[in-house]
Amino acid sequence: MRDLVIIGGGIAGAAAFKAAAEAGLSVCLLERAAAGSATTAVTSGLFHGGLRYLAHDATTSLEMCREIAALLRERPGLLSRQVFLWPVYRGHRLGLGLVESLLEYYDRFARERSSPGHFRLTAEETLERMPALEGRGLLGSLAFDEWRADVPGLVKALLDEGRARGGEVLEGRPVSSFAVRSGRVVAARVRTQGGGTAEFYGRAFLNAAGPWAEEVADLAGARSVRLCLRRGAHLIVPQEPPPCGLIFPDPSGRYIGLYPRASEFWVGPTDDPHQGCPDRLEATAEESQRLRRGLATVLPGYGTAAGRTVVGLRPIFRQLLAGSLLSRDYRVIDHDREGIENLVTVVGGKLTSHRPMAEEAVAAVLPKLDRAAPSQALRPARAASRSRLASLAVSVARLAYHVLRHLIAGPDPGRGGEAFRKAFPRD
Ligand SMILES: Cc1cc2nc3c(=O)[nH]c(=O)nc-3n(C[C@H](O)[C@H](O)[C@H](O)COP(=O)(O)OP(=O)(O)OC[C@H]3O[C@@H](n4cnc5c(N)ncnc54)[C@H](O)[C@@H]3O)c2cc1C
Repeated sequence: MRDLVIIGGGIAGAAAFKAAAEAGLSVCLLERAAAGSATTAVTSGLFHGGLRYLAHDATTSLEMCREIAALLRERPGLLSRQVFLWPVYRGHRLGLGLVESLLEYYDRFARERSSPGHFRLTAEETLERMPALEGRGLLGSLAFDEWRADVPGLVKALLDEGRARGGEVLEGRPVSSFAVRSGRVVAARVRTQGGGTAEFYGRAFLNAAGPWAEEVADLAGARSVRLCLRRGAHLIVPQEPPPCGLIFPDPSGRYIGLYPRASEFWVGPTDDPHQGCPDRLEATAEESQRLRRGLATVLPGYGTAAGRTVVGLRPIFRQLLAGSLLSRDYRVIDHDREGIENLVTVVGGKLTSHRPMAEEAVAAVLPKLDRAAPSQALRPARAASRSRLASLAVSVARLAYHVLRHLIAGPDPGRGGEAFRKAFPRD
């Protein structure tokens, strides 16, 4: 019998697998398809500080920036710097001053992100760096940087590190039910190809099934995982990427990104509610059109007819706020509270926050095993769920401060085109 059986081999399950093996547990991971092939395979692929969430959830942004610092120390080979331009056109909802105020706010976390901070370019300087950009109506742009992640490489590294300590990864193993006795999960049952069932016994079980976490918890009779799934579609254009990433609004006004990869680029993601089962997941014609039309407004010379659209589901836990105000924080749920002693669920979060998520989940499992604490300290559970309203109030107040400061003091003259060229010379 293993100490821990993990269900789900996305970034959350893979990171928990590694953390559990390093804590000295005998651990087995059951993944119904291939590890890292679901949500984790269709993200924007950035380790970022949550610029989008800064205005309403700065606490999560700060935590993500601290994680970037740790990842840069521990896995520098899996990260590469990605420069973004945020071109501002006449008629855009966010003008140059507002975008620069937001980036000045983001610069508060620049040290953690190992970033030189933002820069401000005139329209001419913008077109000099990216000649294919639409020039009509262009007022200028703001430049900043994030970290591009080798996501398949990261999943592989986490699984290899867990395996090296004796952990076992079994792919193609869909968990279809649990054997539950006297308030304890005894075994996870997996359908075999021959139509039979294999049982995997464990002292504790960790549900890391991402968008399927609610479904997997339900299999054990646990009802406290309630998700609010949000669709995120990307258009993948199989064409040499432009020299920088881009941020721009789609036809609905939502700001999306262009993310360069080796020999293609991704455009997106959308952010809409998802109804129904997480299994039936295909991009709609409307999602695809929205992304193509958005791209055509900034890069009119790029053919958008080619390319396919992929979609993933953000496994966000249900909360009071809705839509774009939803926090991208994670939750570790101990089902002991509802009478299932040895089942824990970890859900939500980001690629960027995989490490604290995993360590907190494994720290929640350890007391169930009646084991001595591991030599390496794991992150204890956060004392209480942090107040979302407090984070919202602080975030809004700080943004207002930066907007006012920008209005009164004006832009920093040391952050113009010349400083940009020095910080980010062309390859
Ligand atoms: C469009 C989009 C863009 C994003 N971009 C970024 C980004 O740039 N940076 C960032 O930090 N974060 C980003 N995120 C967020 C982040 O990547 C995801 O939240 C994260 O990848 C989710 O990982 P996961 O392991 O929870 O889920 P998944 O990757 O979906 O893993 C869950 C796994 O569980 C398995 N499973 C399900 N049911 C069962 C079962 N019954 N038995 C066995 N296995 C099962 C599935 O097959 C799957 O492999 C993005 C998310 C989306 C949707």
